[in-house]
Amino acid sequence: MALNRCGSLLSRLRNQHSQKHPLLAFYTISSTTPPDTEAPSRPAPPPIHVAFTESAGRGVFATRRISAGDLIHTAKPIMAHPSLSTINNVCYFCLRKLPSLKDSEAQSIVFCSEECKEKSKVFYDVETQADWLAFDDYCRTQGLKYPLLVKRLACMVMSGAVSADILDILQPTSLTPEMIIEMEEGFNLLKKAFTKANFMDENVEFLTKQWYTAVLARIRINAFRIELAGGLYEDLLSSAAASVEAEAAVGNAVYVLPSFYNHDCDPNTHIMWIENADARLKALRDIEEGEELRICYIDTSMSYDARQRILSQGFGFQCNCFRCLSGD
Ligand SMILES: [Zn+2]
Ligand SMILES: [Zn+2]
Repeated sequence: MALNRCGSLLSRLRNQHSQKHPLLAFYTISSTTPPDTEAPSRPAPPPIHVAFTESAGRGVFATRRISAGDLIHTAKPIMAHPSLSTINNVCYFCLRKLPSLKDSEAQSIVFCSEECKEKSKVFYDVETQADWLAFDDYCRTQGLKYPLLVKRLACMVMSGAVSADILDILQPTSLTPEMIIEMEEGFNLLKKAFTKANFMDENVEFLTKQWYTAVLARIRINAFRIELAGGLYEDLLSSAAASVEAEAAVGNAVYVLPSFYNHDCDPNTHIMWIENADARLKALRDIEEGEELRICYIDTSMSYDARQRILSQGFGFQCNCFRCLSGD
């Protein structure tokens, strides 16, 4: 991602003497390329690789020509969490929108399918053993969405589904002492929920204040706000427009591969969601082999000044993309 996000990862990956990221294949589930004839059941790997850019740390590059409108790859989130305002209207696992419920059901957690219910066990079995009233209240009253992702990750770690350092691969934002103090209340409430539920000490050992803030520092600049385009959009342009006009976010999610895309105010790649939190990366125009693929982290319709301000304050870098350099 941005210049100042990549220092430690850069050195870490360089030490591995690898230009391609080892997690690339793991977190990428499909590509548009038709499977080759020898192995029709296995999709070809997506036409991209992760490498280092001249000035912005790691980035994603095309390994062959990609045509405008092509689906480059899809990506499943490491974890996703519904917004508190939509929590009873979307699947608690994949964030798919659900038909309006009867009043009697409206206060309960819902899943869109048996499959999602089954998959959610990695966090839900642990989550349901604790009382989240105080923690959820804290998020609701302060309008916080990211601590909910930390809670979900903590439950996944406790169930043994993922390791506590799973997000270390993502670059963190730098935190001021004030920001760390602000996070204290959330940490205390999370820890308290687990302690009161009498989990074994060794299971909650990872849950230190340092872990909580380090995870939050990564989630803050790597989480994607999920807005479902909805319906079926074959036409790329209509999908791009639809995502701008989409209703309020259904939730937030964290991915590995999509986080490796650098930003551009005039991007050649678009990240979008159709029916759930599975991300789709699509080419907005023809991309040549070797060209870097970039997405726009913010609303492309904003003015130069607004874009520079948000990218600097929210993501910690000054944008020097071609569009910004041209003063547009
Ligand atoms: Zn679902
Ligand atoms: Zn720019």
